[in-house]
Amino acid sequence: MPSTTQVTNLRDAATATPLLLLGQQADPDSERGTICPGTVPDPSDPALVERARTARAILGDDVFVLGHHYQRDEVIQFADVRGDSFKLARDATANGAPTIVFCGVHFMAETADILTAPTTQVVLPDLAAGCSMADMAEISQVEAAWEDLRAVGCGDGAEAGGVRTVPLTYMNSSAAIKSFTGRAGGAICTSSNARRAMEWAFEQGEQVLFMPDQHLGRNTAVRELGLSLGDCVTYDPAFPGGGVAPDRLRAAKVVLWRGHCSVHGTFMPAHVDDVRARVPGVQVLVHPEVRHEVVLAADHVGSTEAIIATLDAAPAGSKWAIGTELNLVGRLAQQHPDKTVVFLNEKVCFCATMNRIDLPHLVWALEELVAGRAPNVIRVDDDTALWAKVALDRMLALPGA
Ligand code: SF4
Repeated sequence: MPSTTQVTNLRDAATATPLLLLGQQADPDSERGTICPGTVPDPSDPALVERARTARAILGDDVFVLGHHYQRDEVIQFADVRGDSFKLARDATANGAPTIVFCGVHFMAETADILTAPTTQVVLPDLAAGCSMADMAEISQVEAAWEDLRAVGCGDGAEAGGVRTVPLTYMNSSAAIKSFTGRAGGAICTSSNARRAMEWAFEQGEQVLFMPDQHLGRNTAVRELGLSLGDCVTYDPAFPGGGVAPDRLRAAKVVLWRGHCSVHGTFMPAHVDDVRARVPGVQVLVHPEVRHEVVLAADHVGSTEAIIATLDAAPAGSKWAIGTELNLVGRLAQQHPDKTVVFLNEKVCFCATMNRIDLPHLVWALEELVAGRAPNVIRVDDDTALWAKVALDRMLALPGA
């Protein structure tokens, strides 16, 4: 299968290896385990903040720095805008800078490349900043799943009495899967607009194939659209036919891909019970990527932007336990000293790949740009980008998007 993403500065130097150590070797077909050419500053360098400021000032309006809310404090301070993946996708298109430095993960940089002009280059400061959820769905697996659906009379619904399946793909997915989604008549969604997107999908067909986050798909279908758990089946790409009996697959309203977020998936109902006992009067607010049982136990559910807005609007003295990525929860606690803000799970749980973008890598990327070199440029091939953009544009055209 050809790679959809070309890493321009590693293409020639790479050698395939079965086991790649993060940050030490190169693989042209993957964002994983890739080297940064040149010298990445030492994390102990006391001049790092000053070096970042200096490089940022020299680059001026030629560079636009996007920062996802889950980024480290040391990095997000240099972001021109902050946001979740949906907001950053819009911000990437709105700014005309020739270079975007994306402080986030690989699929976000791919999306920025797809949505911006061909002359815009998108730089990811560390190519090892991937997403474990996105990695749980490969394009060959998705194509096989589509064949499984067609084999039971679903999919494109071409046969007489066939069931029309509409793919609905979370932003947290590869460009290749976004492209498949566009070709197959589907759309992209984020946690901010999953409900509207699923309603739209049911206007186009009778069945939704939701990829790759089973939890967001289930929570949206059951909590937002009022479907039952029995209306949903979980398709596991590791098993023939997804491990679902053909009649169940055909009858399902929502086919959930068996993927999850390795951060949000750690929250359990017991954590909700525990924090209620530890912090009397606490309100539990969780991201919809958490398990359905956790959503049922929580008081509120909301996307990353909704979590931030809820805390902004909350009265002084209120108490909150937040079930999302720890960098963001720590920042919310700092920004709201008049409120009690605690992490839902007492154990520390950062997103390891988001944290790959640290200040040394940001300084390295900015200084490379100052030197006239564009490092780690993320480029999606034209055919993949064309259909992925169709799927993204369907999302951007949703009412209220
Ligand atoms: S928090 Fe989860 S979904 Fe987001 S980038 Fe990390 S692994 Fe992926």
